[in-house]
Amino acid sequence: MSAACLACDDHDLDAGGLLVIDLAAIEANYRHLVGLAAPAHVAGVVKADAYGLGAVAVTERLVAAGCRHFFVAELSEALELRPLLPEGAVIAVLNGLAPGANAAAADAGIVPVANSLTQLRAWAALAAERCTRLSTILQVDSGMSRLGLSPAEVDELAASPELLRSLDLLFIMSHLACADEPLHPANRAQLAAFIAAKAKLGIERASFANSAGIFLGKDYHFDLCRPGASVYGLGVGPAAYGIRPVVRLEARISQLRTIPPSASVGYGYTFTADREMRLATLSIGYADGWPRALGQIGAAWVDGVRLPFTGRISMDSCTIDVGALPDGRLRPGSLVELLGPHQSADDIARLTGTIGYEILTRLGRRYCRRYVG
Ligand SMILES: *Cc1c(COP(=O)(O)O)cnc(C)c1O
Repeated sequence: MSAACLACDDHDLDAGGLLVIDLAAIEANYRHLVGLAAPAHVAGVVKADAYGLGAVAVTERLVAAGCRHFFVAELSEALELRPLLPEGAVIAVLNGLAPGANAAAADAGIVPVANSLTQLRAWAALAAERCTRLSTILQVDSGMSRLGLSPAEVDELAASPELLRSLDLLFIMSHLACADEPLHPANRAQLAAFIAAKAKLGIERASFANSAGIFLGKDYHFDLCRPGASVYGLGVGPAAYGIRPVVRLEARISQLRTIPPSASVGYGYTFTADREMRLATLSIGYADGWPRALGQIGAAWVDGVRLPFTGRISMDSCTIDVGALPDGRLRPGSLVELLGPHQSADDIARLTGTIGYEILTRLGRRYCRRYVG
């Protein structure tokens, strides 16, 4: 989880920024998706520290909300979270296991996603060696060419069903590449490829949809959906209605100054004042995950007033033009909105040519983090 926050009072903020994570909104989003997906179950995807929001806090909240399936990317993430889960809950490693990691995963009761026949054979061999049945999830590639058994490997496995005998195969799964574009023909094509692989292998239980896949409708839900983004308040495609925002990020003002006409601002002197200007220096920068590309185009917000960045974003600080606010409204220590009601992570992503996922997962470790709700 994030570093401990020593001074989390708005009035006594030591960190450069305050990151507020609304666990009630996370739970509401999860429950909303459960409603959409029913009777399918809904897992929590808590990889990458729950998309930067804190995997421990998020996992505990999802467990309390009834979630019993979790996905992470790496074994280390699963090992950290496993002790938080109740008896019978499943935590699976999407990237599969590196050679040599099988015993540690089995000891901890962690479920690998088998992404190749080699991984599946290694897991089956360990089960045979231990005279026990080990659980696994089998991933097939339905078109994304990233992870999972190729069609040739699916045929090979279909011809040697004894490979699965020592294993408890929880689900067959695959992953959608274009679900955030509901009309993209890849969605139907991947669905058809997935259904064909599932039939060929004779596997009953299946998991296919991520957040955007849930919004594609019942055909895509199968037995277990795997949303991440929507749980964390990101908008995925046009159909993300009913999803509540989860994060608020406020930056602390460290200094205020008035500069004369023709004074320059920041690295490279990329901004030059054409009049006397009032500036505020914020104690966050690109090392906190605030995109450097926003220097010429972004803004902070106070009282619904847009306060544009002046010049480049530095590593640990940046400056905004506060001339649109009454003199005296802001003081050193005041907080300004970077993410919140006036701009979302998706908005920042659109401005900087990326996706909200990247904005969230890069949120810095130096913020004071406060969980509410
Ligand atoms: C990250 C991931 C998810 C979650 O995707 P979202 O778009 O965040 O809902 C689901 N399945 C797999 C295989 C993933 O890698």
